[in-house]
Amino acid sequence: IRVRPLTCTETRRGDQQVVHSLGDGAVHVSAARHDATFGFSAVFDAGASQEAVFEGSGMRQLVELAIDGFSCTVFAFGQTGSGKTYTLMGPLAQSETQPASPALLGLMQRSFTCLLEQSRSRGSDLALSASYLEIYNEQVRDLLSPGPPCALPLRWSKTRGFYVENQLSVEFESLEAIVSLLLQGSQRRRTSAHALNRHSSRSHALLTIHIRSRAVSAHPAPGEGWGASACPGKQGTLCFVDLAGSERVKETGSSGELSVEANSINRSLLALGESWGTHPGSPAGPHRSPVTSFVAPPPAGHCISLLAKPRGKRTHIPYRDSKLTRLLARSLGGSGITLMVACISPSSRCLSETLSTLHYASRARRVTTRP
Ligand code: ADP
Ligand code: MG
Repeated sequence: IRVRPLTCTETRRGDQQVVHSLGDGAVHVSAARHDATFGFSAVFDAGASQEAVFEGSGMRQLVELAIDGFSCTVFAFGQTGSGKTYTLMGPLAQSETQPASPALLGLMQRSFTCLLEQSRSRGSDLALSASYLEIYNEQVRDLLSPGPPCALPLRWSKTRGFYVENQLSVEFESLEAIVSLLLQGSQRRRTSAHALNRHSSRSHALLTIHIRSRAVSAHPAPGEGWGASACPGKQGTLCFVDLAGSERVKETGSSGELSVEANSINRSLLALGESWGTHPGSPAGPHRSPVTSFVAPPPAGHCISLLAKPRGKRTHIPYRDSKLTRLLARSLGGSGITLMVACISPSSRCLSETLSTLHYASRARRVTTRP
């Protein structure tokens, strides 16, 4: 859980701070008619630095698992303006000449640095490439291909699972190169104005780093090139998902085209919730009342939910309900490893969305590891 500081506007208009971190992964929400405590793997409050979030969330371990060949995914979710993009990317550069301060870089740039360091220390035996997509109104668009974004078809094959046809995947070897891809793509992300946040992103964005370790044998036989050893190369992915705002349509004052957007956003989020909800070991029923619920915190370090499950049990998961869940099917149900970062505002004005985010997060957290 990441609680952002009150913004200047919120402070000026006298909003109350209703969210407090109690330490040990517990977070307390208190307002006139609500008093609830939730437990999570980690809670970062307004004072937590970007570095603290990177180190304390398990992100570094996730990068290492991706190098080891796992499909790893990080989700940032929460209402518009709750700090999802800030957590993943930090504030984007003011201009070409004024890059963002290194201390404010988000989970993405810190992960890239970690990945490239690992790659270098392994004698560059990792081949890295990136793809960047957005899902807007249930259409998948490539954020890296030049020209106006056009919708790409989502296909399924036995060997690849769900994949996006003709998606661009760009190889990179330096931090500058991948950060520049991230900036290019982010600028193309569809944004539109509505009552909650002028720059609110109405699309889901998925940045995927493909990590292929070239098979290495300690003593390659003469004449044997890279990749010819007995040990097959591993292929891992590290996917960063910046979800569109989770707020309900009626609170954003949306109408017409915007309400169509909000509805497909909600459909994706609902499908995502269902995927977790139907997992054995995760009670899918209605939630207890928001008043005084307490979920015991898990043992320290359990911030990553392993979603591995046996093949035969996967069929009832409704991945087909939305493009988002189809694209993430491997991370949600296969041998994937997922880190969920729920972002919330501490303001009294956001109380109901904050409670709904915390309930959603508690539900996602109850997904258990199946060895
Ligand atoms: P979202 O992506 O969820 O819509 P943003 O990441 O754009 O929200 O954050 C909304 C605003 O709050 C931005 O101006 C951002 O700079 C600020 N903000 C968010 N989280 C923090 C934080 N932890 N510390 C300081 N400012 C933050
Ligand atoms: Mg955002």
